[in-house]
Amino acid sequence: MQQTNHLPAGQLPLMEHFFTIQGEGFHSGKPAYFLRLGGCDVGCVWCDVKESWDANAHPLTPVENMLESVLASKADTCVITGGEPLMYELTTLTKLLRDNKIRVHLETSGAYSLTGTWDWITVSPKRFKLPLKENLKAANELKVVIYHPNDLRWAEQFVPQTSEQCLFFLQPEWSRFNEIIPEIIAYVKQNPHWRISLQIHKFMNIP
Ligand code: SF4
Repeated sequence: MQQTNHLPAGQLPLMEHFFTIQGEGFHSGKPAYFLRLGGCDVGCVWCDVKESWDANAHPLTPVENMLESVLASKADTCVITGGEPLMYELTTLTKLLRDNKIRVHLETSGAYSLTGTWDWITVSPKRFKLPLKENLKAANELKVVIYHPNDLRWAEQFVPQTSEQCLFFLQPEWSRFNEIIPEIIAYVKQNPHWRISLQIHKFMNIP
């Protein structure tokens, strides 16, 4: 799928930005500055940031202002998330951050073409809009949210589509944590190529 290209050059809809502790996946527990871009048409029923979906609800923000916010913190890593950030051309933003020695990490469903240069790519496939094959190949980390036990089998189809260095995480959907975590634990014991990702920021009650 192609990006939305009608935005003014060097500006992106920014829903929120904050310095926090990364809560999910391989980099859990590390401090990082988050830029959450507005706009998503993937439509996950359990989405916990539905207010991000309408891109027009979020101010167009120059990428230089985003850089300024990141540099004003002690962060050495910036996570670009959404919404679905790959709906936008991210070359300018990632170059600006990397030129200023900030590592850039991407959180994406993988449903849109990859742009930008990344230090880490997390692809989190969604049933409602499947990831592109080339994004699965580019992923450093595959992270599948488990809402229902059937999602465990569904997750396996993506494993052979990734590259050799890719890491695999299963993450309980937060509202179903108590019901689903025993299933995930049992599954990972039987299928040890997976690890468990918990949303530790939610346990710490931080963004
Ligand atoms: Fe929400 Fe992310 Fe799904 Fe979009 S891809 S609907 S932001 S969980």
